[in-house]
Amino acid sequence: MITFTALLIFIVGINIGSFLNAIIWRLHTKEGFLRGRSYCPKCKTSIRARDLVPLLSYALLRGRCRDCQKHIDWQYPLVELITGVLFVITYLKFSLSEEFIVYAIYVSFLIVVFVFDLRHYLILDRVMLPAGIVALFGSLILGVGFFNILIGIIIGGGFFFLQYVLSRGKWIGGGDIRLGLVMGLMLGWEKLLAALFVSYLIGSVAGISLVLWKQKKWQSRLPFGVFLTTATFVTLVWGEVLINWYLDLVG
Ligand SMILES: [Zn+2]
Repeated sequence: MITFTALLIFIVGINIGSFLNAIIWRLHTKEGFLRGRSYCPKCKTSIRARDLVPLLSYALLRGRCRDCQKHIDWQYPLVELITGVLFVITYLKFSLSEEFIVYAIYVSFLIVVFVFDLRHYLILDRVMLPAGIVALFGSLILGVGFFNILIGIIIGGGFFFLQYVLSRGKWIGGGDIRLGLVMGLMLGWEKLLAALFVSYLIGSVAGISLVLWKQKKWQSRLPFGVFLTTATFVTLVWGEVLINWYLDLVG
């Protein structure tokens, strides 16, 4: 049953999503974070406050800028909606707990990494560095355990560093190594292993589907951060289920 609290969390989520869109834009254009209001990228007109309501404004404007009538990028409503939905899923799993708050912050970082890697094939240090610091404190607050985190970052960083060295940077980028470290910090080593497994599963399915639909050639590089961040979310929420399922299977 969808409760009033869940609805409230959805509304908070879509507003955070709107904020994440602004961050993604400013990371892309390298504009400062503190100055200036949001503007239409096509006609440069400042966006009125009433046109900044998440989801609702996009629907009322029928996806077009009020001034130049050009299409608003689908990324805007989609990121708002997805942030809202992921916040609600996290809430339904963890209710209003410390886990929920820490994971909601992780989710926000993961969404920025996901969208930026999907659109620009880049995982930025300007995102990964704060994400790493937040993840270290988050995991310590949640009692993940220092040793668990340490093994997590050794496996997470090492796994991608090895591939980076073996392929001389062809399979994956340096950003993937840093994302691997952050995943280790967020998840600890057991859930990290589950996340790596899930990410390869998603990546293979996506890769094969794209080739079959002739969108990509076998040689094309896929933005692997997209699969890693998706798998990290799946594992944050359902990691224990996955690990128990695996242990039942082998034991
Ligand atoms: Zn415009």
